[in-house]
Amino acid sequence: MSELDNFDVVIGLEIHAELKTKTKVFCSCKNEFGALPNTNTCPVCTGMPGALPVLNRHAVCLAIKAGLCFGCEISPYSVFERKNYFYPDLSKAYQISQLVYPLCIGGGVTLDNGKKVRLNRIHLEEDAGKLTHISHAGGTLVDYNRGGTPLIEMVTEPDISSAEEAVEFLRRVREALVFEDIANCKMEEGGMRCDVNLSLRPKGTTTFGTRTEMKNLNSFKSVERAINFEARRQAEVISNGGVIVQETRKWDDDRGESFAMRSKEQAQDYRYFPDPDLLPIEVTKEDVSNIKDEMVELPADRRTRYVEEFGLPQYDANILTSTKYISTYFEKCVEFYNAPKKISNWIMVDLLKLVKEQEEIVFPLSEQHLAQIVKMVEEKVINKTVGLQLLDEVIKTHKSPEVLAKEMNLLVTISDEQIIELLNKLKNENAKVAADYKVAPDKVTGFIMGYVMKNTGGKANSAKVRELISKVF
Ligand code: ADP
Ligand code: MG
Ligand code: ZN
Repeated sequence: MSELDNFDVVIGLEIHAELKTKTKVFCSCKNEFGALPNTNTCPVCTGMPGALPVLNRHAVCLAIKAGLCFGCEISPYSVFERKNYFYPDLSKAYQISQLVYPLCIGGGVTLDNGKKVRLNRIHLEEDAGKLTHISHAGGTLVDYNRGGTPLIEMVTEPDISSAEEAVEFLRRVREALVFEDIANCKMEEGGMRCDVNLSLRPKGTTTFGTRTEMKNLNSFKSVERAINFEARRQAEVISNGGVIVQETRKWDDDRGESFAMRSKEQAQDYRYFPDPDLLPIEVTKEDVSNIKDEMVELPADRRTRYVEEFGLPQYDANILTSTKYISTYFEKCVEFYNAPKKISNWIMVDLLKLVKEQEEIVFPLSEQHLAQIVKMVEEKVINKTVGLQLLDEVIKTHKSPEVLAKEMNLLVTISDEQIIELLNKLKNENAKVAADYKVAPDKVTGFIMGYVMKNTGGKANSAKVRELISKVF
């Protein structure tokens, strides 16, 4: 038993995701990852005196889409404010963000266990530059390319109670943002980052305890580890009669522990005030409905539909909706040949195996071609083994399965005479099989069938073989 067993864990997350725009949020510099340092910069995003920001409409649309993904209310009126602080990655000495009037309000995500994690808000803001500390040179490099790129910040209510719930929530968020082309959420590139706020309270009580915050976690694994470490640390402090101080802690992934950075007393006063250079954002109902029209069906909704409409197991539905590409591919196949579970099996077993090394999955044959192969197998024109051969050949040649099947002589059917001949041969050579068949036909039919299939390259019609076995034996 550990000290933690006496406590409930209370977690609220703040998630930053970089929006998938071509240009930055207040200037026309490119929004791209990996460019040469300080090449995507201008007087606006570096904050030169007198430079004026111009709002990127696409960034606002994407932030609204994010709100619509999670059932937020889209505010008809929201305001940019300056968050003032000095730090070398922020050459303007203030970040343009939203505080009192955010763009999206409320909403939430329902987890598999039925719990709803409520969102407090989603707001639009700009990112800061990137510092690289060079320890052997005793210095720090700064790259302002990222400065001024658009971010959404999503803030949850403190509704999460475990590392597992936190990770499930993050997966859901990432999945929806990627599906809707709102953000790439490449965590290894910093495209999605997460702050964890965590406190404990004695089991069964309702008053919140004092929380700590761990900033900028950039993988699901580190979120999970940071939460488990911090929950245990707090439980130990409290159980030993200590108190938790409200502070920002830094998670060190290599050491697997967090340490204090700054306490609330040292917390900065950001002196937020409305940015005088930017007008409030006004969004009409019509704007919202136009943006809604551009969106595709959300992964969670697709999953439900696959189970209800196509009768697929939940497991299949989860895999098929893991990316928009796979989901769209699957649905197109079903349009060509309405056998959802069969198609699902081919995709999950035979196709995903072929592309498992690819970073971004693209199947090597068209939906129509896959559907044709599945259909030929289901209609017993060919068997599954031949179907797989055909699959390989279609991938190599890009010819249609029907054409190829003819060219490769796969459609040649084995005549009844040929089958009878084979059966007689087996009967003569293998007296035991013949004897066994007399006693328990069911036990050896499979063996005899296998013999015929092996000697016909799998091309014999299995119903026919079954019929002839009973005649010959
Ligand atoms: P701040 O403005 O200091 O960042 P907020 O009230 O906006 O504080 O809360 C930030 C995050 O902390 C939210 O996700 C919220 O749910 C979470 N949070 C607030 N109080 C607690 C608490 N006692 N325990 C855990 N998380 C909390
Ligand atoms: Mg915070
Ligand atoms: Zn710029």
